[in-house]
Order: sequence, then C-alpha cells, then structure tokens
Amino acid sequence: MRRGGRVRLYGGIETGGSKWACAVGSDPDGIRASTTFPTAAPAETIARAVAFFRAADRIEAVGIGSFGPVDLRRGAVTTTPKPGWAHTDVAGPIGRELGVPVIFDTDVNAAALGEHRWGAARGLGTFVYLTVGTGIGGGGMARGHLLHGLSHPEFGHVRIPHDPADPFPGSCPYHGDCWEGLASGTAIAARWGRPAHDIDDPAAWALEARYLALGLAAAVCVLSPQCIVIGGGVMSRRGLLEDVTHELDRVLGGYVESPPVVAPELAPRSGVLGAIALAARGELPA
Ligand code: ZN
Repeated sequence: MRRGGRVRLYGGIETGGSKWACAVGSDPDGIRASTTFPTAAPAETIARAVAFFRAADRIEAVGIGSFGPVDLRRGAVTTTPKPGWAHTDVAGPIGRELGVPVIFDTDVNAAALGEHRWGAARGLGTFVYLTVGTGIGGGGMARGHLLHGLSHPEFGHVRIPHDPADPFPGSCPYHGDCWEGLASGTAIAARWGRPAHDIDDPAAWALEARYLALGLAAAVCVLSPQCIVIGGGVMSRRGLLEDVTHELDRVLGGYVESPPVVAPELAPRSGVLGAIALAARGELPA
C-alpha cells in the first residue's frame, strides 16, 4: 500500500516461548529489517523489541502474534507456565513506547492470517491453521474473520480417543491425554524416550498419524474448513502429511468430505509475516 508515493510499513512480532521474531515491512517480498532473539525476562525482551523498531524505518502499527494463552482485549499473556511471563502485559508497553496502534492476537491466528493473505489459504474464508511442535496450537478463520470468541481457540486441548494399545498417559499438565498430551512433539518424546526426529519406528509414526487425524476430524466436523494448513516441527517428518491425510479420510468414514490438508507456504515465517498482516489490516478482536 502506498501513501504519497511511500510504501506503508508495519511491524510484526511473533512471540514464542523460546524466541521472539520481529520484522518491519509490507509483505513477504518487502521486508526491510528483521531480527530474532531469545525470550528472556519480560521487561528485557520487550525492551529489545522496542529498540529494534526504533532503529528501523517508521512504522504505522505493530501486529503481535503471541504464545498463549492470552487475553486478547488486554493484549496480555495470561496463565502460561513460562517462568516470569504469567499475566504479562505485552501490547501495552510496546504501543506506549513506539506510539503506534498495536493489534494483538495468538501466534496461530497471526500465522493463519499470513497464510490467508499470501500463502496456502489465499482466497479461502473458512480454514484452520495448525502447528504441531512442542505443543499443538490452532487458529483460523470463519467467513473471513479470525476465530475469536469468549477467548480464542485452543485446538491442542480437544479430547480425542486414547488408543487402547497406547499405555502412555499423556503429557498435558492440565488434561493428561488431550490431543496435545498425546500427539505433540513433547508427547512423542516422552512416550518413546527420545526426540521425534530420532524415531524411525513405523508403528510410532502410524500412531502419530492416527492421533493427528482424530484431532483434525474434530476441527472438520465443527468448523467445516475449506482447507487445513498444518505445519510445525513434527510435521516435517517425511510422509507424515500424506499419512495424516489418508487417516483423516478413514476417520471421517466417507460421511463428511475431507478438506485438503496442506503445509504452510510461508513457513517458517508464517507467524511474523502474519503479524505484519495483522498490523496492516488492523482487525481487533470482535
Ligand atoms: Zn491439554
């Protein structure tokens, strides 16, 4: 977008439990500056982001895609187990320091918006974006609006049937064997005693594909997404996306149509580009 011959620039921040990614730009091909740094104590981390944006070209607004859970209206992280971060106001200090509007959402809703604007969900009004890594997170859109409600979706904590042949009790500190507790990278590592990328046992990956498909089936039945975009470290396993797609068909049993299940096109920048899209679009939680 141009104003008086000048490209409008926006700031994007993807905050994660281990690192923050910040960028200034207008779109995937128009990034002027970017940086990543480890997630340290809140005040220090926020100050580092503010310093980055102060040193960059002038921005119109900042979008933040945050790890959660979050309070969307306050722009704050809420009950995270991340030490020092529970009930931390993130949007407030950044907006005050930079003097620009801040649009705050979950990391997965930001990534969903990025994929909607420039990636795998272009042209789709209703879709789901999921990431399967140390946890499982999900966001998306319904009829062109990012999914918000009482709070925000927590796809990772839907309950799925626990395979009777799987003795692993689940790794979620809140629910044990919820979807994240059974199928996240953390769960895989705890069940098999080594990290997911070191596991080659076909039975381990067949179980993973089944568990992932069961969670996707819940999303399909509730939201009727036109597409499921699914990424994250666990999904980088060769052949897993195809196995999950096949299992999803089987779980749905021919009664409900399976949407396409695809990888994100902007990865690993879906979140930070989505945060720029959030800032440019200026959508506040409904
Ligand atoms: Zn859970």
